[in-house]
Amino acid sequence: MIQNGKIPFVDLISLHRDLEPELLDVCKRVIETAGFIGGPEVEGFEKEFAEYCGTKYCVGVNSGTDALRFALIAAGVRSGDVVITVPNTFIATTEAISQAGARPDFVDIDKRTFNMDPAELRRYFETRCKFDAGAGRYVHQATGRPVTAVVPVHLYGQMADMDAIVAIAEQYKLTIIEDACQAHGAEYFSKKQNRWLKAGTIGDAAAFSFYPGKNLGACGDAGAVTTNDTEVASQIRILRDHGQARKYHHDLEGFNGRLDALQAGLLSVKLKHLADWNAKRRDAALRYQALFQESAVEVVLPYEPSSSKAVYHLYVVQVENRDHLQAELAQHNIGTGIHYPIPLHLQKAYASLGLGRGSFPVAESAAERILSLPMFPNLLSAAQEHIVEAVDRIVRMGVPAATA
Ligand SMILES: *Cc1c(COP(=O)(O)O)cnc(C)c1O
Repeated sequence: MIQNGKIPFVDLISLHRDLEPELLDVCKRVIETAGFIGGPEVEGFEKEFAEYCGTKYCVGVNSGTDALRFALIAAGVRSGDVVITVPNTFIATTEAISQAGARPDFVDIDKRTFNMDPAELRRYFETRCKFDAGAGRYVHQATGRPVTAVVPVHLYGQMADMDAIVAIAEQYKLTIIEDACQAHGAEYFSKKQNRWLKAGTIGDAAAFSFYPGKNLGACGDAGAVTTNDTEVASQIRILRDHGQARKYHHDLEGFNGRLDALQAGLLSVKLKHLADWNAKRRDAALRYQALFQESAVEVVLPYEPSSSKAVYHLYVVQVENRDHLQAELAQHNIGTGIHYPIPLHLQKAYASLGLGRGSFPVAESAAERILSLPMFPNLLSAAQEHIVEAVDRIVRMGVPAATA
């Protein structure tokens, strides 16, 4: 897809063009029935998405951020707890932890997959925590706070090393909430269970975002929690709707965090194409790999372990002089992104955590080298050839001495 000589970073326009009649039917149906909140559209999508993932339950909510926050609260994270995640994620992951009343803390990532390094998670417990026999929990030594949950992020559409994370979580009594906001349909081969498992089926609960640019996106904001836990699912149904199971009977203070019926209906239409779109993303990733292998320049490509079937929400390469490459690609009308330029522990919002530069060297060095190239289901091979040629040429020329 080359639009007016430009290759966009993501193309949401051609994706919806073919689906327009079906999407408009949904709008008409919702308007004609005035079924705007809850009802058959929401229940239908929840059932379909649970089936797609392979979980007992799916609860539709307002956004991926809501999904994370509700999952954490429903799974038992309490005010004052510590919840561990990675520094190289979207801030929604840690916002949700803080909004659940907990304090986010981080462990570093694996330098090849960019996902949580299980060895670092283990080291966190071995060096920073102690068992509090009275509480029956592991507590953070310096603050005395109980460390109760871990949020592995399946970043860029590739699942974290869940066998290892589950084993550590069992040993240290941690709840696992998967941040699957970038990983709809991603799979991981569990050696322990000797089978492929989909994102969103392994933890106590998982959060999905249907932000428009995600692999499955709504036409606005939307999200969902998947879980096999009946209690967690029913708790989230209450949390998303002002703490009520029955109208005006509030068991607790909840949130206004429901999934719109309109978005649910639109998502049902799009869900039927998700497997095909993910396959197209994987094809595009293979084409990038083949094209870059022909070029001699130093570009580190995404690493997909044999235990992973990634769905390439993003295609992230690593280069020296990343900012120069990005600026030059923009000159060539090629859109790119950086996910993410500043690790969370170095963000102003988290200055109070007191985690300075050097705290998570792998995440920090990745942030300086990563560049997300165009990636979407309708990305054509001609566009990819053009992109790789441009990268090859720019990297080969190097940075002009004056700006180096
Ligand atoms: C998109 C995203 C979220 C948040 O989802 P929203 O629907 O935008 O609230 C959370 N975590 C990650 C890793 C994401 O990519």
